[in-house]
Amino acid sequence: MKAWTLGSGSSGNALLLESGAHRILIDCGFGPRAIVTRLKAIGVAPESISALVLTHEHSDHAIGAERAQKKYRWPVYASTGTLGTLREIETRWRQPVDAGSTTVLDGFLLDAIAVPHDAVSPMAFVLTAQASGARVGIAHDLGAVPDALVGAFARCDALCLEANHDVDMLRTGPYPRMLQERIRSGRGHISNDTCAALAAALAGPSLRAVTLLHLSEVNNTPAKAEQAVTAGLQRANFRGPVRAAPRRSAGVAFALTARAQVSVQLTLGV
Ligand SMILES: [Zn+2]
Ligand SMILES: [Zn+2]
Repeated sequence: MKAWTLGSGSSGNALLLESGAHRILIDCGFGPRAIVTRLKAIGVAPESISALVLTHEHSDHAIGAERAQKKYRWPVYASTGTLGTLREIETRWRQPVDAGSTTVLDGFLLDAIAVPHDAVSPMAFVLTAQASGARVGIAHDLGAVPDALVGAFARCDALCLEANHDVDMLRTGPYPRMLQERIRSGRGHISNDTCAALAAALAGPSLRAVTLLHLSEVNNTPAKAEQAVTAGLQRANFRGPVRAAPRRSAGVAFALTARAQVSVQLTLGV
């Protein structure tokens, strides 16, 4: 399984996941032209993507969803609440996903978890590659970490987690008090420290890579986020890579070798 972020933060989010010939796009927070340019940068044709999965309807995650869907005829998997905000998508392309359920996609299983955030019905997801059994947990915007997420994200091979702000930079930064409170509230965005505690709680023997998403341009830096989460993970005995996703360009989030596949085969052989 391999993943690329195509951009990360309030200027637009999207993540491409690949397992063999199967490709899934998670969020589409760019216009169709920008999405095509970023996909081209990683050598992926939009026609080769078999589904679009949306975490929530905020424009930095969904602004291009309707137009790109119309052009490439992707089925769109999201909560009923999120789909309800996307009026341009025809009924036949809508694939409502319930929190707590598992949905079979082309080459992947999709587990959905409801998360607290100031959107209609936002979700985090675990995607499992059917060929290899490799699992990735993807949590974009969330104001707090629900117990259901900690349970669902256990035993992942890779994690993509929001690390929005450094607590001190937010407190002493230029944002007005009301906006600061919105971010800090249980329905805003999680800090580097909360991300670090979450990553440490999820660090099991199968975990190989951690990618940090949605860093604030004003209230965070890649170095601060990586440092905080690396420190948390070291206390949990994880020594693998911890990288902040590039804000305005495509970048590899992780590339897993077939270790997961081998372990599945060994388990089956016993
Ligand atoms: Zn949001
Ligand atoms: Zn966002």
